[in-house]
Amino acid sequence: MNRLARLRVEDIQAWVGEMHLSDRKGQTPYYIPVLNQVHPEVFALQIHCLEGEILSWGDETLTFPLMSVIKPFLLLYLLTHLGEDAVFRCVGKQASSYPFNSLTQLQEDCGFPRNPMINSGAIALADLLGGETPESRCENLLLWLNKMGNCQLFLDRSVLESVHSCPNVHNQALSLELEKNGYISDRYLALETYNQICCLSGKIADLASLGKLILASSFADIVLEIMTNCGLYEASQQSAFEVGFPTKSGVSGALLSIVSDEGVIACYSPLLNEQSNSILGLNLLTHISHFIKEN
Ligand code: GLN
Repeated sequence: MNRLARLRVEDIQAWVGEMHLSDRKGQTPYYIPVLNQVHPEVFALQIHCLEGEILSWGDETLTFPLMSVIKPFLLLYLLTHLGEDAVFRCVGKQASSYPFNSLTQLQEDCGFPRNPMINSGAIALADLLGGETPESRCENLLLWLNKMGNCQLFLDRSVLESVHSCPNVHNQALSLELEKNGYISDRYLALETYNQICCLSGKIADLASLGKLILASSFADIVLEIMTNCGLYEASQQSAFEVGFPTKSGVSGALLSIVSDEGVIACYSPLLNEQSNSILGLNLLTHISHFIKEN
């Protein structure tokens, strides 16, 4: 029996209720004004079990940008289209011990991006996408994801404008370092492609559908291993120990977890902890993981 399918909406409701009272101390990203202004209490969660059951709680109509949750899908797309050798020539598979946008990490690694879940790795992979312009590269990824993942993502131009309104000096420095060391060929093209794909947006059902795309792929093992070791940045090891699901977070508050052989958990709650992972999302994962162990 699928243990995820035993969860009831009342369980989620009770856990969300408990946590909203005690965990209001998080932040939203100051450097992306539209995300900084999102109401901190917005919330959506969907669990899609592989047999087809769907459990939903919160506002299914909300749309939000995936931000870094796009990274495992960029990896999956490139593994599918270019193969492992081409991808892992440009990016490693090792966990990182610094924040997701750390230049120090990249410099310590002589310009070779440590993994595809941090910004340097995703910027390097954005450079491998096919297409002459950031728009066409982003569109290629979007069309493939919507077709293969049975979802309706779109590029949210208001979020992209907001990203452009506060140029991100960390990402600019990472791109320059990557270019200097020969890991990307055009830093402007790579960075703008990265910015655009982070603004791919959808509803909670789209995120959950996308998660199933990873499970169905012949590259599932490798993508899941990298999500486990790197998906929550410096907090990945601790989460692997406490929760045990391969997970990816984004600064929008999006969170996606894969429960092997059972299904996927998609969550959206914007308040972030120090590592920029959704506080409520992580709390819920801990509850769900305990529930699964007990059932
Ligand atoms: N676009 C965001 C950034 O570069 C994505 C980071 C994230 O979601 N952790 O900062």
